[in-house]
Amino acid sequence: MDYNQVWGTALSRIELELSRVNFNTWFKNTQIVNYKDGCVVIGVPNDFVKEWLQQKHEKFILRILREVFEGVRSVDFHTVKLETLQKKRERAEIQNNNPNQVLPLQDLYINKDDGLNQKYTFNNFVVGRFNDLAFAASQAVIKNLGLVYNPLFVYGNTGLGKTHLIQAIGNTVKQNHPHKKIIYTSLEKFYLEYVSSINSQKVNNFKEKYRKIDVLIMDDIQFVNGKEKTQDELFYLFNDLYDDNKQIIFSSDKHPNFIVGLEDRLRSRFNHGMLVDVNIPDYESRVAILKTKIKNQQRVEVGVIEYVAENISGNIRELEGVINTIQAQVELFNQYVTLEDIKKLLKNNIKIKKFISIQDVVKIIANYYNIPENYIYNKIRRKEVVKPRQIIMYILREFFDISYPIIGEKLGGRDHTTVIHSYEKIKRELGLNPYLSKEIDEIRGILK
Ligand code: ADP
Ligand code: MG
Repeated sequence: MDYNQVWGTALSRIELELSRVNFNTWFKNTQIVNYKDGCVVIGVPNDFVKEWLQQKHEKFILRILREVFEGVRSVDFHTVKLETLQKKRERAEIQNNNPNQVLPLQDLYINKDDGLNQKYTFNNFVVGRFNDLAFAASQAVIKNLGLVYNPLFVYGNTGLGKTHLIQAIGNTVKQNHPHKKIIYTSLEKFYLEYVSSINSQKVNNFKEKYRKIDVLIMDDIQFVNGKEKTQDELFYLFNDLYDDNKQIIFSSDKHPNFIVGLEDRLRSRFNHGMLVDVNIPDYESRVAILKTKIKNQQRVEVGVIEYVAENISGNIRELEGVINTIQAQVELFNQYVTLEDIKKLLKNNIKIKKFISIQDVVKIIANYYNIPENYIYNKIRRKEVVKPRQIIMYILREFFDISYPIIGEKLGGRDHTTVIHSYEKIKRELGLNPYLSKEIDEIRGILK
C-alpha cells in the first residue's frame, strides 16, 4: 500500500472533524511509518504528541483509517525524529523520481512557488537578548535588499529560530515587494533539485530558475559535506546573484569555519558577509515566548509560565512542546491548567539542561555502573560493559540529539550502524523492563 496516500486521505477526513488548532497541533508532521498484519504505525514528532494521540484520539484515528483502508485492525504510535521522516521522504523521492507524490502535511502550508510558509512572521517572533543581533540585521536587510549585509549568514543550534527568522524575512519582503522573486530552499533541497535536473537533462532550466531571483534564502547549509558539485553550482550562483546586488541569506547550525566539508571559497564568501548568531533564550525571553504563545492565559494558574520557563531552558522547540500541551487542555477541553498538572507533566519530559561533553556523559555513566571509563571506548565485549555502552549511546541520542555517526566516532570509532542497533535495542527493552527505565531515570537525574 502507498502509505503516503492512505495517510493523506485519512488526514483530509480527520481535518474535517477537528478544529484547526486541534488538527495543526496534533497531526502536523505525522506519517504512516509501518503497516503489518493489520496494524498501522503512525510516526509522530515527539512523545507529547504520541501520548496525546494515544490517549485522546486512538479510536477516532482507527475509525478513519478503516474507512480509508480496509483491513486495518489497530493503530500504534511511534516517536520518529523529524529528520528521519524527511530523509525517508527524500530517499523515496530520489528512488521514484516522482515529485508529485503525496507530501507530508507540513508541506501543505508551504507556497510551492517560493517555498515560503506564511506561519513564520515577525509578528509572532519574540526578540530578546538571545537573538536581538540577528533580528536587527534582518531588519536592515529587509530595508536595504542586497546592499548592506550580503550575504546574511545566521547560525546557531537547532530549535533556536533560524528557520523562523529567515522565513520571516522572506515573507516580509514578499509583502513589501510583491513583484520581487524570492526563493526559500534548503541546501538539501537545492542538492536534490540539482541532481534531478542532471538526471532529466534540465540543468539549464535549473540554472536559469535560480538566476532570475531577487532574494535567495537557503536554510541548513551545514549539510554540504560530500556534495562537491552542488557546492560548485552554489558558488557560481552566489557570484552571479552577488554581482547583481541580489540579496542572499543562509542559515547553518554552525559558524562557517566549523562546517565540515565546506569549500574554502564558499567559506570565504560567507565570512565576508554579515554573520549573526542566535543563542539559547534567556529566562526573560523564555517567559516572553510562553506569554506570546499561550492564549487564554486566564485559564492557566499563576506561576505556570514561570515554572515552565525555569525548567525548560533548552531550545524553543522544547518550549513549544509544553505550550502545545497547555494549549490543548485550555482550548480543546476547556480545562484550567494548574501548576500541579504542569509539574507532573514535566517530571517525565524534562530534557537535560546542562551542556556537558560526550566525555562527561561517558564518565558519569561508567561511574554509575562502576566500570572503568576506558572500557567504554575500547573493544571489550563483556556483558557488564556492553550494556552501559549501549545505554550511553541511547542517552546521547535520545537526550542530547547527537547524530549516530558522531556518537560512533566519539565512542572509540564505532560504526554508526552499531550505534543505531544499540539505540533501538535499549529503546525496545525500555518498554519491557521496568528496572532499565528506572536506571535510565536515575542517570537522567544525575545528568540534569
Ligand atoms: P531552527 O531553524 O533554528 O532549528 P526554528 O526556526 O525551526 O529553529 O524554530 C523552532 C520553533 O520555535 C519554531 O516553531 C519557531 O516558530 C519557534 N520560534 C523560534 N524562534 C522564535 C522566536 N524568537 N519567537 C517565537 N517563536 C520562535
Ligand atoms: Mg531550521
